[in-house]
Amino acid sequence: LEEQYRHSQKMEAVGRLAGGVAHDFNNLLTVINGYAEMLLAGTGPDEPNHAVVGEIHRAGERAAALTRQLLAFSRKQFLKPEVFDLGERVADLASLLRRVIGEDVELVVARGPTPVFVRADVGQTEQVIVNLAVNARDAMPTGGVLVIRTEVVARPRGRGDDRAGGGADGPEPFALLSVADTGTGMTDDVRAHAFEPFFTTKPSGEGTGLGLSMVYGVVAQSGGHIEVDSAVDRGTTFRIYLPAAAGANPPRRSSTPAGEDAPP
Ligand code: ADP
Repeated sequence: LEEQYRHSQKMEAVGRLAGGVAHDFNNLLTVINGYAEMLLAGTGPDEPNHAVVGEIHRAGERAAALTRQLLAFSRKQFLKPEVFDLGERVADLASLLRRVIGEDVELVVARGPTPVFVRADVGQTEQVIVNLAVNARDAMPTGGVLVIRTEVVARPRGRGDDRAGGGADGPEPFALLSVADTGTGMTDDVRAHAFEPFFTTKPSGEGTGLGLSMVYGVVAQSGGHIEVDSAVDRGTTFRIYLPAAAGANPPRRSSTPAGEDAPP
């Protein structure tokens, strides 16, 4: 618990730093990208500088995408929470995820009989699932199995009793999203740093080191937390706990199929 506390303090500090940097860079990049666009529009495709300015523009856009992920980590991002069934989201994402992980990895979606309601940002939650799937794929270069499970649990496993319950009303229900792979696993050292922004063990050009930091930021901002089990050469399981959304009431949502754009 002590170690967990120190880790979250450290992530907090890194988050503040990253957020400040991302914010300032974002402003500068707006200027750079704006002028690059202007120059690009002002030079003909045959002029020698056209390609150069094009490169500047592309690099600027990439940098802007990176700062957006950093902002997600530092929780300076605007989230739009809605109540939705996490199991349904995963099921809807399955075909996209199959394309992402390729043919050598088998995807198993395990979904219980009851819906798993959470209150979170739908788009960001989907990004969390995709980021975890991409990492799982990268950890299984010669194939394997990816199991994504959603369920409601009484309280986080392995947590101190004094923190998890919160009130005197008994254990709180949590939505649990677990993403388990049969890949390379992580050493303790990698596991300790995995959520830090820019930490990557992948060759340069392949990893940004921002995937898990984004996951961390979104989950923390949604009032949840993450546990990781990993064993070298056996695989890794990420468990994401989100507060279950209020009530066992049947949702109105079932009457509006895939109604993301439907008015509230
Ligand atoms: P990136 O994927 O760009 O390296 P991430 O923040 O997503 O950045 O991950 C950081 C590091 O954590 C990875 O480089 C890898 O070493 C480790 N990691 C993340 N997910 C897994 C996984 N499922 N299996 C093994 N290692 C992982």
